[in-house]
Amino acid sequence: MAFQLPELPYSFDALEPHIDARTMEIHHGKHHNGYTNKLNAAIAGTDLEGMKIEDILANVSKYSGGVRNNGGGFYNHSLFWSIMSPDGGGEPTERMNIHKAITRDFGSFENFKDEFSKAAATRFGSGWAWLCVDGNDKLSVCSTPNQDNPLMDVADCKGTPILGLDVWEHAYYLNYQNRRPDYINAFFNVVDWHAVTKRYNDANEGASNF
Ligand code: MN
Repeated sequence: MAFQLPELPYSFDALEPHIDARTMEIHHGKHHNGYTNKLNAAIAGTDLEGMKIEDILANVSKYSGGVRNNGGGFYNHSLFWSIMSPDGGGEPTERMNIHKAITRDFGSFENFKDEFSKAAATRFGSGWAWLCVDGNDKLSVCSTPNQDNPLMDVADCKGTPILGLDVWEHAYYLNYQNRRPDYINAFFNVVDWHAVTKRYNDANEGASNF
């Protein structure tokens, strides 16, 4: 069974004015679709067909550059769409487990937001910023280059990503041009904390989300 491009869970214009419809349409329909198709081409006829994407990424150093780039691109964008919502923004409420964990590991939501925003702003060139949880339930923030992510054995920072921000120029250039910090600020207006807390709760259950 080949990997499938997931449907966007909202319309292209649902995240406006924070992320514009044209960017969403190209990002999902061209970029994510391209990673998905190229991943399927890269694994066709190999033992990787039928494996969970998380298991492929965990041993990605054994496979081709095409599997690394396109497997990462497939996973990262699938996660990205799922943790945004037109009803998102603000801060996690105290009822959400992620609220307690962020306060415990960063001191406050503001501290977390500052650290995450800095990771996103300072990633040189193309890449992603992440909030991850490790096997000891500890949260951390980091960034990775290109389409790498913290599930990969080649990554400098390891963990299960529960929030990710695409800082490739294709994610923001039409609306924000070179103003990456404005895009990072806008992202926090659409983060779906219900989805993030669900990923946090599920992170160490071994469930495949894609
Ligand atoms: Mn992208």
